[in-house]
Amino acid sequence: DGVASRMDAGGNVKVVVRVRAFLPRELDRNAECLIHMDPVTQQTTLMVPNDTDPANSRAKSRKVIEEKKFTFDNSFWSHDPCDEHYATQEHVYDSLGEEFLDHNFEGYHTCIFAYGQTGSGKSYTMMGTPDQPGLIPRTCEDLFERIAAAQEETPNISYNVRVSYFEVYNEHVRDLLVPISPNTPPYYLKIRESPIEGPYVKDLTEVPVRNIDEILQRMHTGDCNRTVASTKMNDTSSRSHAVFTIMLKQIHHDPHTDETTERSSRIRLVDLAGSERAKSTEATGQRLREGSNINKSLTTLGRVIAALADPQKKSKTRGGLKTSGSSNTVVPYRDSILTWLLKDSLGGNSKTAMIACIAPSDYEETLSTLRYADQAK
Ligand code: ADP
Repeated sequence: DGVASRMDAGGNVKVVVRVRAFLPRELDRNAECLIHMDPVTQQTTLMVPNDTDPANSRAKSRKVIEEKKFTFDNSFWSHDPCDEHYATQEHVYDSLGEEFLDHNFEGYHTCIFAYGQTGSGKSYTMMGTPDQPGLIPRTCEDLFERIAAAQEETPNISYNVRVSYFEVYNEHVRDLLVPISPNTPPYYLKIRESPIEGPYVKDLTEVPVRNIDEILQRMHTGDCNRTVASTKMNDTSSRSHAVFTIMLKQIHHDPHTDETTERSSRIRLVDLAGSERAKSTEATGQRLREGSNINKSLTTLGRVIAALADPQKKSKTRGGLKTSGSSNTVVPYRDSILTWLLKDSLGGNSKTAMIACIAPSDYEETLSTLRYADQAK
């Protein structure tokens, strides 16, 4: 019923924040940490640098600096590897990824977004490095470990795993698992809507994978294609949203009745375009169009998540977010290609998480990211 499912949906949305470690260049210039996270309350505090008062650049004077406080479902404190509360990649997986994978094995969809300005740690959080693997490789590893364990315990269930990888650039969809030829421009796929499955990308490549190496190989191919395409367009990949999807099918065969039942779930892992592109005040022409399309996707995503997180609050206050005049009760999936395509994984019984990534000493961008995350909550 409506009320119960709304409450379920509320519990299925998480907004978390992660501050990244200082980079060598920031350490070199003695950049000040403007973020504090309380491990107990999960409160994140952004301290406002007051450059006009030289005393304020000192840590001891922080008490007098104006502060902005936000509370999220989780605050991952990854700015100082020596701090006892330092949130490692494993931490992030344990407190988010594992729960989401449980949900997938129960037959439901999940979706994790990394949001933030370029350089704030989105791909570190999602993909990580070979030494410090992020959410995607950990999810894949755990997935195949669980499958191996289950196959021993319950031989009546068989598993089928497939992956797809696409990017949304300028409100167009491109298949990242199709190699790009150097002489032809990238081509875009069409979006269709099926009465049962809802919106989907027509002719999108889906490849079966049997183990973690195969899955990471595909992901790597996709990342290379993304880089090639973006180089052709004279930029790094920060202007597109990359959606990696793992499709898990559990096929249960009952030896007594000889009947088979299937459970399908989708695991969506999304590296969003850099949020700084959204505010392209000086841009013109192509840049302006890109900027406003990124803005449209990110704004719509924020509104969709806010609507899912708390539809009652949303219908009264609209969550403080600007709306384009659509009905209060309608989740505005259709307002951007990204949210439209992810409709199956947002809302209903799906679990959604937004990881807001921030740098430790960048006031303006961090404030805008924290505000965005706060409105999506
Ligand atoms: P984005 O994807 O948002 O553009 P990256 O993930 O590439 O940002 O992060 C920028 C830089 O910061 C990279 O060199 C990355 O390795 C480093 N980095 C990000 N988060 C962390 C972290 N938690 N600990 C250590 N280094 C990090």
